[in-house]
Amino acid sequence: MRVTIRSMSEEAVWQALACVPDPELPVVSVIDLGMVKSVSVDHRVARVELIPTFLGCPALGWIADKVRAALAEQGFEAEVAFALDVIWDPSRITPDGIDKLRQMGVAVPVKSDAAPVACPYCGARDTDIESLFGPTPCRAVYYCRACRQPFEAMKP
Ligand SMILES: [Zn+2]
Repeated sequence: MRVTIRSMSEEAVWQALACVPDPELPVVSVIDLGMVKSVSVDHRVARVELIPTFLGCPALGWIADKVRAALAEQGFEAEVAFALDVIWDPSRITPDGIDKLRQMGVAVPVKSDAAPVACPYCGARDTDIESLFGPTPCRAVYYCRACRQPFEAMKP
């Protein structure tokens, strides 16, 4: 029985985490981004290990606060740690997350892709990086020659 109770509370933690948005791309949650490394629950204490998307990215403290708040709503006391032994890269983004980002016009480079990033609007690979300095340290601005639109992509 203990196992059942435990997995139910872990499930509650995952559900709460699914409501924690990325501060820069609020359509995706920390789960969509593949940022959750592990969850463990001991009585009412939930330990969550997150993989920082980019060490240079601001707002890690903001995310930790949101995770604590979301878990507090479920009655958990949260211990949030950032895993520094795992390097996050865009291949951790879930298929759901990739869809949501594409709908927002943000391309996600996939490791197996050949160098050009596919345009999120028309799918063409006739794209060029326009600026490494996108609106945030995590994103770069690209230009699609096929549909002549600029778009953003997560930095690979
Ligand atoms: Zn295009």
